[in-house]
Amino acid sequence: MMGQIISGHGVTRGRQLARACDLTVLTCMDFRLHARLRHQLEWHLGYGVTYDLLTAPGAGYDLAHDDAPHRTQTRLEDLGTSVEIHQPERIAIIPHTDCGKYPQFGIKDKNELRRILIEDVLKAAHLLSKRFPRLSVIGFLAIVRERHLIELEAINVSSERLLSRKGNAPIF
Ligand SMILES: [Zn+2]
Repeated sequence: MMGQIISGHGVTRGRQLARACDLTVLTCMDFRLHARLRHQLEWHLGYGVTYDLLTAPGAGYDLAHDDAPHRTQTRLEDLGTSVEIHQPERIAIIPHTDCGKYPQFGIKDKNELRRILIEDVLKAAHLLSKRFPRLSVIGFLAIVRERHLIELEAINVSSERLLSRKGNAPIF
């Protein structure tokens, strides 16, 4: 019936809620990423895709490294809030190829940075798949071109690849 209000514990929580989104995106705070991010996500995931957008220096860095457990915890709590309120089916981790968070670690060249960024997405996905076992985790590497153009390259975050890992991601 139109106008019927269902309240209390009887409320059905699910994707039929108007406020449910398709996914939650965790990407870097870097301003160059954001103008084109929606266009690229629509290219890969479909026109009109809806997502919560969380940003942090280095995207999934805090989930992949345990040098600052309070930051890892903050990322997990922020993601948990998004999952609780907007019930996404997926979480996407999107670092970028020239991220200023990473050169401080003595990385030699672009190829090494690329390898480390992908490795960190896998570590972060490993942690998130334990924390949010009902959600799937996907990853993209954002490649920054001139004039703030970006392209997203899908990262293989298959469950087999996660299971083959030795579990060196921090566990909360
Ligand atoms: Zn960055």
